[in-house]
Amino acid sequence: MSEEKSLNFLEEIIENDIAAGINNGRIHTRFPPEPNGYLHIGHASSICLNFGLAKKYNGLCNLRFDDTNPSTEETEYVDSIKADVRWLGFEWANELYASDYFEQLYNFAVKLIQKGVAYVDDSSAEEMAAQKGDIGKPGINSIFRERSIAENLLLFADMRAGKYPDGAKVLRAKIDMTHPNLLLRDPIIYRIKHVAHHRTGNKWCIYPMYDFAHGQSDSIEEITHSICTLEFIHHRPLYDWFIQQLEIFPSHQYEFARRSVSYMITSKRKLLQLVNEKHVTGWDDPRMPTISGMRRRGYPAVAIRQFCDTIGVAKRENLVDIGVLEFCVREQLNKTANRVMAVLDPVKVIITNYPDGQTEQLIADNNTEDEHAGTRLLPFGKELWIERDDFMEEPAKKFFRLGPGLSVRLKHAYIIKCDSFEKDENGTITEIHCTYMPDSKSGSDTSGIHVKGVIHWVSAIHAHQAEVRIYDRLFTVEDPANAEGDFKDHINAASMHVLPRVMIEPSLSKAAIGAHFQFMRKGYFCVDTDSTENKIVFNQTVGLKDSFAKEMKK
Ligand code: ATP
Ligand code: MG
Repeated sequence: MSEEKSLNFLEEIIENDIAAGINNGRIHTRFPPEPNGYLHIGHASSICLNFGLAKKYNGLCNLRFDDTNPSTEETEYVDSIKADVRWLGFEWANELYASDYFEQLYNFAVKLIQKGVAYVDDSSAEEMAAQKGDIGKPGINSIFRERSIAENLLLFADMRAGKYPDGAKVLRAKIDMTHPNLLLRDPIIYRIKHVAHHRTGNKWCIYPMYDFAHGQSDSIEEITHSICTLEFIHHRPLYDWFIQQLEIFPSHQYEFARRSVSYMITSKRKLLQLVNEKHVTGWDDPRMPTISGMRRRGYPAVAIRQFCDTIGVAKRENLVDIGVLEFCVREQLNKTANRVMAVLDPVKVIITNYPDGQTEQLIADNNTEDEHAGTRLLPFGKELWIERDDFMEEPAKKFFRLGPGLSVRLKHAYIIKCDSFEKDENGTITEIHCTYMPDSKSGSDTSGIHVKGVIHWVSAIHAHQAEVRIYDRLFTVEDPANAEGDFKDHINAASMHVLPRVMIEPSLSKAAIGAHFQFMRKGYFCVDTDSTENKIVFNQTVGLKDSFAKEMKK
């Protein structure tokens, strides 16, 4: 029996089209972001889908910037989108811009006027809204609807020439003001906007509406399967109407459910608010659900792809559990991240019977999950740092770590026993005094002593200091976009916690930005872009699910 996954509904459509010889079996998709923000986890799903289908069926996928709204678009966004798509592991067949089609789209509009199916309307936005009718209530025709073709051609040319201010006139398709689908009640196809465009500058002062740009761009590029999210389902008849009227390449639109992930926001507009109002440090803040935020946080591209693949496509919207994404991240990092030791909340241990001034280099496995990961040298000495919570002054019953009279194994090193400790006037432990068993070294242990607990540590004279940023969810509720009140009411005030004085083993001090590690017993961490020559900064990527039980078995 084959273990292959069954086809999703889009794959079924494509396979049927190939079997029927439609477009000679050619498959061409596109990913069409509007460059008005950074890409987020929802876009990742659309990217994996469009590029993935093209790849699976030996087709092509275009990257098309849907840049028809000059007021919100910027080149910074274009650059970030390209970087994010590439980082996710995809390469486009063509980099295209809807704005490159402005002349062609203008000519398409002229063609509609010539056919008598488009007209210039001088009505105000309020008048048009009042004439539109509603569901179950037919609309009424504008008094400008019967303008002659000649007059419409002239007025439209004058709109382009800049003779009118914003809002003075629009170009509308002449379809049916009583159509049950409100979108077909003479939709606006061009509006006047005296705004410079990020690519065409001041060349244009009229811009096509989404519906008049999107399908036509698909058609110009001979896109075979134009995949978009469910909210466009009612636009499909309009998409088809324009293609039919213009007699251009018959692209087809298919819809799938938008992807939302719990505790995340997937709307560029809302994410922009978080950035502008400084609730986060930028689009790539590691708490952001943006691709750049997740990259900086340490989520591997392959984990995001695996996540998108796991959740697949659906026809109905639902909230995907953030745990699924974290699972994919953890699973990937478990295979690839080297295990190292870092002490997040350090307290000093002094091994009283270890010779003064002596150090030794222990050999440590980098990752037992990966046979090619190799080993590294780990210095050991008389003074060590361990986690404050690995010591208890009065140990609880099943506390198998350090406390007066208790023994524990130091990972990769020796068994130590706690003899005494010192406190300051506030009752804070300042020093723990231990003895070690010289014959208990990991790998050549002849001591015969068995201890239950294993803890991580860093040699004090060899340690480097780092800053570690621990993250929690950015929102306190599962579905912030739909929760009561404003979504920003639900921001988690404690979503970032900075540990300024973390002791790391020396092998980490020169780690490259973006490098991933498992801090033993603590989770997965990666080197942040804020790191400098003098200060290394780590982001917590994700915690370890099974705490330390499994990891420290040996
Ligand atoms: P936003 O609301 O965040 O601005 P958008 O749909 O307006 O999203 P676009 O730049 O137009 O953003 O999106 C590019 C492509 O990504 C579109 O084909 C869109 O359908 C798809 N997409 C956007 N958000 C999601 C999502 N949450 N899940 C799946 N696909 C999405
Ligand atoms: Mg959009």
